[in-house]
Amino acid sequence: MADVLSKRARSLEPSLTLSLTAKAKDLKAKGENVVGLTAGEPDFDTPDVIKEGAIEAIRRGETKYTAAEGILPLRKAVAEAYSERLGVPYGPADVVISHGAKHSIYNALFALTDPGDEVLILSPYWTSYPDMVKILGARPRIVELTKKTEFKLTPEIFQKQLSRKKKPRLLMLNSPSNPASIVYRREELEAIARIVLESGISLISDEIYEHLVFEGFEHHSPVSLVPQIRNRTVVVSGVSKSYSMTGWRVGYALADKDVAYRMAAFQAHATGCPNSISQWAALEAIQKGAEAREEMRVEFEKRKNLFGKRLERIPSIWYPEPGGAFYYLVDVSKLYKKCNAKNSFDFCDKLLAEQGLVVIPGGAFGCDKMIRFSFAASENDINRALDRFENFVKKYSS
Ligand code: PMP
Ligand code: GLU
Repeated sequence: MADVLSKRARSLEPSLTLSLTAKAKDLKAKGENVVGLTAGEPDFDTPDVIKEGAIEAIRRGETKYTAAEGILPLRKAVAEAYSERLGVPYGPADVVISHGAKHSIYNALFALTDPGDEVLILSPYWTSYPDMVKILGARPRIVELTKKTEFKLTPEIFQKQLSRKKKPRLLMLNSPSNPASIVYRREELEAIARIVLESGISLISDEIYEHLVFEGFEHHSPVSLVPQIRNRTVVVSGVSKSYSMTGWRVGYALADKDVAYRMAAFQAHATGCPNSISQWAALEAIQKGAEAREEMRVEFEKRKNLFGKRLERIPSIWYPEPGGAFYYLVDVSKLYKKCNAKNSFDFCDKLLAEQGLVVIPGGAFGCDKMIRFSFAASENDINRALDRFENFVKKYSS
C-alpha cells in the first residue's frame, strides 16, 4: 500500500511527545510497573466553573457549527484580555480561535510563509515546529542554541542569521519555552523585537506558557515591548496549559486583521470551526478561571522545587533551571558511553527497559544530548520517577 502515499506523507512521523505519552498510558493500563513523565499536560482536572460553562452551553443548544473564526463572545473576551495584558489594541476581528494553540500555529505559518521560505526555529525547539513548516512546503532553518547563551537567541546570533544570503521569512519564538523551560528577560526580548522590526521579517510568538512562570521570572511579550511589530506578529496562546484544558482543544491567535482573516479562511476550509462547546468553556476560563489558574501555578512551582532538589544530588548531569512551563531538560550525554547508548533515543529506551521510566528523548527537540522530564505530574509520580532515574544514573556513573 505504501505506493499510494505522497512523498510529503512518507516523510512525516508521529509526534513523539504524544506517542510516548500514549505508550506510557498503555503500559500502565496493561498493569506494567512504569512511570511516565512524558506529556506537557497538567494533571489537574479542569476546574468545575469551566465544566459548568460547557454543560450550560450544551443545555442551551450551542451544539452547532460556529463562525469559522470562533464565537464572537470568546473573540471579544480574548481581544479585551490581551489588549490589556499586552498594552496593544486588539479587536475581535484580530482574533482567531482554533482547535488548540497547535492549530493556531499551523494557521499562522500558513498565513505567513510560502513554499520554499525559510523559518528560523531555535533549538531546543518544540517538536512540532519543524514538521509544521515542512508540511507547508517551507523550510525550517534550525538555529542551534547552547548553554553558553542559556539556550536563548541573542541579537548577535539573530543578526548573523539575517545576514545570510537567503533572508528568513519568519522567526518562531517561544517564551516560556518547551522543552528548555527558559524565560527571556525583558531586555533580551526587547532587543529581539527591535531586530524583527528593523529586518522586516515576521514573528510567531508562542506564549502558551505565559501564565506558568516561577519566582524570579516574569513573562513578557515581544509585542508589548515593541508595539510597532504588532502587524507583523502573530501572538499565540490558549487555554490548554493555563486552565488544565488540554483535551478541550482551544487555542487562539492575535494578529493584524488581514492576517487573522486569512488564518480564518484557511480554517474554514480545513476544519470548519473549533468545537462549539469547548469555546463556551474557554470563555468561562478566561472570565472566571484566574483563581484556579493561579492555584495550579503555585502547585507547579512546588513540584519544580521538589524536582530540582532531587536532581541536585544526582551526579553526571546538567540542566538549566526552569523559569516557566513545566519541564526539566537534562543533559545526560556524559552517561551515553557508560550505558552504551548511541543517542538520546537509545538512552530513553534503556531507561524504560531497566527502570520502567518513560521520558522524552531530546532528539525529538533537536538536542540529542538531553532528555525531557515533565513535572506536570503528582508528587508521588515525581518521586517514583526520580528514584528510578537516580538508580539508573548511579549504576552507570560509578
Ligand atoms: N506550543 C508549545 C510550545 C507547546 O508545548 C504546546 C503543547 N502542546 C502547544 C504550543 C500547543 O498547545 P495546545 O494545542 O494544546 O493548545
Ligand atoms: N506540548 C506538549 C508536550 O510537548 C503536549 C504534547 C504535544 O502536543 O506535543 O508534551
